[in-house]
Amino acid sequence: MDYKVPFVGYKIQYQNLKSEIDKAIQDVLQRGDLILRKDVEEFEKNLATFLGVKYAVGVNSGTDALILALRAAGVGPKDEVITVSHTFVASIESVHHCGATPILIEVGEDFNIDVDKIKEVITPKTKAILPIHLNGRMSEMEKLMEIAQKHNLIVIEDAAQALGAKFNEKMAGVFSLAACFSFYPAKLLGALGDAGAVVTNDKKIADKISLFRNHGQRAPEIVCYGWTSRLDNLQAAILNVKFKYLPKWIERRREIATVYNKGLSGMSGVKLPPSPDSNPKYFDIYQNYVLKVQKRDEFFSFLKEKGVETLIKDPIAVHHHPALELSHFSLPYTEKLAKEVISLPMYPELAQEQIDYVINCVKEFYSL
Ligand SMILES: *Cc1c(COP(=O)(O)O)cnc(C)c1O
Repeated sequence: MDYKVPFVGYKIQYQNLKSEIDKAIQDVLQRGDLILRKDVEEFEKNLATFLGVKYAVGVNSGTDALILALRAAGVGPKDEVITVSHTFVASIESVHHCGATPILIEVGEDFNIDVDKIKEVITPKTKAILPIHLNGRMSEMEKLMEIAQKHNLIVIEDAAQALGAKFNEKMAGVFSLAACFSFYPAKLLGALGDAGAVVTNDKKIADKISLFRNHGQRAPEIVCYGWTSRLDNLQAAILNVKFKYLPKWIERRREIATVYNKGLSGMSGVKLPPSPDSNPKYFDIYQNYVLKVQKRDEFFSFLKEKGVETLIKDPIAVHHHPALELSHFSLPYTEKLAKEVISLPMYPELAQEQIDYVINCVKEFYSL
């Protein structure tokens, strides 16, 4: 089906950047630079400079970034890691793949970890906290870091949805021991396939991730068991092309959020995300523009009819999937959210007419 307003802008973004992207691909192919070449290094430099951290290590996905960062930080069997259920399953999966136990708590109104609930679940086994900065808004990192320091816990940020987001003027990814980013195509900075990175100011962590991603090899020696999880060099070259647009894309997303918020204000049954300028503590980058609505599933079908593609990311709360064996957690607010949240199209290439059209369709449904 051809949507009037598709949920992602893959095609239009490629059309806009075609000559630059095609040139970058040709260049890599002609150089024969496929594995861990200068494009990966350049990308790592770009990312570290943008965030103001010492090290960035490119890996093959955001999920691997999480697994490798937790492993590098020493998280393993018998450890507990405090995180949330209201996230993409990858956050929780990464804890599982370290052999550790995820301890899931509630999120607050802003969909991020409810920092006040952390203390209640700390046990002698607690090793780490894994906050997720969901939808491009940061968790309350200062309070969270205080709790972590007091209880001697490691913190790893899942910043997969928060490249460029800030809390109290500080970027997502700079608060904790290490932070993980994803460059999955739908992310704000998206590759043409899978890609991710770990960032840190800790040299030991950076060195470990570099070893882990490439079979533990420090030629000629193999110094530890590792993985195949390198950032693909061709993807890095593509990300380098897109990197220079990042500040502009962030601004445009904030602009679109402002237009959505103005157009959709005052409707009963629809709760909007906070506007970009509503709280000076937060600089949100609107990775996703998420509404909390009544009659969510009918609304989804209505918009589909109208040619507006939306996303219901997790109609079932992550801890309610039987295969994950997490259903012993009781998280009423999270379970309620799973029935109420829906994401509207949000990407810099959206045209004004498309945004207006979405707004009109939403209004039509909720005034029926
Ligand atoms: C996208 C995402 C990931 C995983 O990234 P991949 O690159 O798809 O593996 C992890 N956590 C969150 C919150 C994400 O949105």
